[in-house]
Amino acid sequence: MPHIQQLPPHVADLIAAGEVVERPASVVKELVENAVDARASAVVVELRRGGMGLIRVTDNGCGIAPAELPAAFLRHATSKLRGPEDLGRIGTLGFRGEALAAISAVSRVEIQTRRRADPAGAVLRLEGGVPGEVEEAGAPEGTTILVRDLFYNTPARLKFMKKDSAETAAAAGLMQHLALSHPAISFKFIKDGQEALHTPGDGRLDSAVYAALGRDFARSLLPVNGGGDGVSVSGFITRPLQGRGSRGMQTFFVNGRFIKSQLLTAALEEGYRNQIMKGRFPGCVLAVTLPVTAVDVNVHPAKTQVKFAQEKAVFDAVYHTVLDALAAEGGPVSSPAPAAEPEKTVNPRGDFFRTMDAKTYREQGAKPAAPPPEKPLPAWNTERGGPRLSDSVLPLPKREPPAPGGRTAFPPLRDDAPPSVLRREPEKAPPKEERPFVPAIPQAGTEVPGQEALEPQKEAPWRIAGEVLRTYIVCESEAGEVFIIDKHAAHERINFDRLKAALEPPMRQALLTPAAVEPGREEAALLLENLPLLEEFGFSCEDFGGGAVLVREVPADMDAADVTSTLEEIADKLRQGRSPAERREALLHTMACKAAIKGGWKSDPAELRALVAKVQSGEVRYCPHGRPVAVKLTKYELEKMFKRA
Ligand code: ADP
Ligand code: MG
Repeated sequence: MPHIQQLPPHVADLIAAGEVVERPASVVKELVENAVDARASAVVVELRRGGMGLIRVTDNGCGIAPAELPAAFLRHATSKLRGPEDLGRIGTLGFRGEALAAISAVSRVEIQTRRRADPAGAVLRLEGGVPGEVEEAGAPEGTTILVRDLFYNTPARLKFMKKDSAETAAAAGLMQHLALSHPAISFKFIKDGQEALHTPGDGRLDSAVYAALGRDFARSLLPVNGGGDGVSVSGFITRPLQGRGSRGMQTFFVNGRFIKSQLLTAALEEGYRNQIMKGRFPGCVLAVTLPVTAVDVNVHPAKTQVKFAQEKAVFDAVYHTVLDALAAEGGPVSSPAPAAEPEKTVNPRGDFFRTMDAKTYREQGAKPAAPPPEKPLPAWNTERGGPRLSDSVLPLPKREPPAPGGRTAFPPLRDDAPPSVLRREPEKAPPKEERPFVPAIPQAGTEVPGQEALEPQKEAPWRIAGEVLRTYIVCESEAGEVFIIDKHAAHERINFDRLKAALEPPMRQALLTPAAVEPGREEAALLLENLPLLEEFGFSCEDFGGGAVLVREVPADMDAADVTSTLEEIADKLRQGRSPAERREALLHTMACKAAIKGGWKSDPAELRALVAKVQSGEVRYCPHGRPVAVKLTKYELEKMFKRA
């Protein structure tokens, strides 16, 4: 072992810098937080090449005294903290006194600043943390910091930088959060010369939400205001029927700081329990305010996590605020909610989610199912709100509901209808005593034109006994074994394998009028970065500007009403996937699941037989998540249960 030596200061600085400044977006975060702490009312952030070319942050805050300028770049130099007692009551975004030191250690920095009272401002340049002379200069009131050549002296870090667009997206997300947590500050974000965000700074959260998260999201929101036990909660939450495909639109602030918190997420979602579709997530912009002594922000270097002294009080405050707001919106929560399987009281694929408010849903959606009509109604025509495929979308073939007795009548498929291999049919809630059983041998006239190819060609060595709980197919094999097959899991696997094999490009359907999807700025950027991948899965999209993505084509087997939620989910997956292979795999899962029939939906006999054939052939054993698609009960096992053996 070599001798122990204390590291030279510049090496120690580089190591420390690496912890604070991981990537361009972290530089942006620190500089903008400094501007906020300096009580600026306007902050402009400019990025070139994802920040690797240039990061410029301009504010009109308090400025720095020329004499103190070099000190601002020393490690552990801060004006925000004096003694250990202050650590327990941090009211500013920064306090570690590390950011400027760290940033300047790994880049070339120029700072111009002037305090309001001073006649002249000052300029200082630093290279690799080494300061030049402070020079007097004319400067507008406030501070401008330019960061160039980030990581020029740490080649190892430079090598690991993500694509420029990923950095831009991260910075955009960050600006979004800062803008939302500080509605009284006007934020502008310019990427490569293009304005990507501009909030008015009029002090109104709704203006900030509109500017930062887009019109569609802003329109889906309900205001909330409440709290208790020293915790106040205010902001906006999505209406129950405007649930999102992911948690990407949940934004929380604690004392003005954007944070991630499982506790807050859980409290929010608990408030929606039984009021939101399974698999959908509420969105929110919620500000939680509590005494600075009741929260510890010093638990994570990036300061995106906090620790609450009174977790239960915080949970309850958020939960009750959400609950009260939802109750006020849609009548009492204890109203006869569709207790059992609430998602089945409405057509899960109709786009009337977007056109119906929570109150109508609760009043009408919770009605007992209507008795079966004399003659079949078109499947999409319900008295509950008339779900219609948007007129802008090529209609998918209309489905007829099952007639009483289990016969299913199918209208002729339209020529222009996209081919669908395995059909999906929304649940029509037939009365219990007449729940249709799938006949073991399909009756004449129940065939779907064009689907014969899916039939097992020869006499199958198994027989479908029926479908139970609208989720499981029960069938028996020649060998005297009973199989219970999970429809959704099996279908998902089949789709997954088909997509993975990618023998041919997926069939697409063109939307007559392209749909503009606003999944959130960061999400939109992620989608746009991955256009070739989306293309591979049958989506044709392009940049619509302002955080929106224009969708022109979608996979043929996808329901028009699912486009937005699917793209939201995909964006979420793209964010999590680190390598291209991981992202592709995640998309495979999403698309396989989206195209699969869901448990709880009526399936037609041909579809069930096609699934069983695949399972029986051994081709399909586990769903893509690793759950079994079928369980087997042998004759012996059954006999044992009945004490026959
Ligand atoms: P911290 O924010 O944790 O105090 P920084 O390294 O980010 O540490 O900044 C050091 C000090 O420089 C701050 O405490 C503040 O006094 C001053 N400072 C930094 N940026 C600005 C700014 N934009 N306007 C005014 N003062 C600033
Ligand atoms: Mg700081």
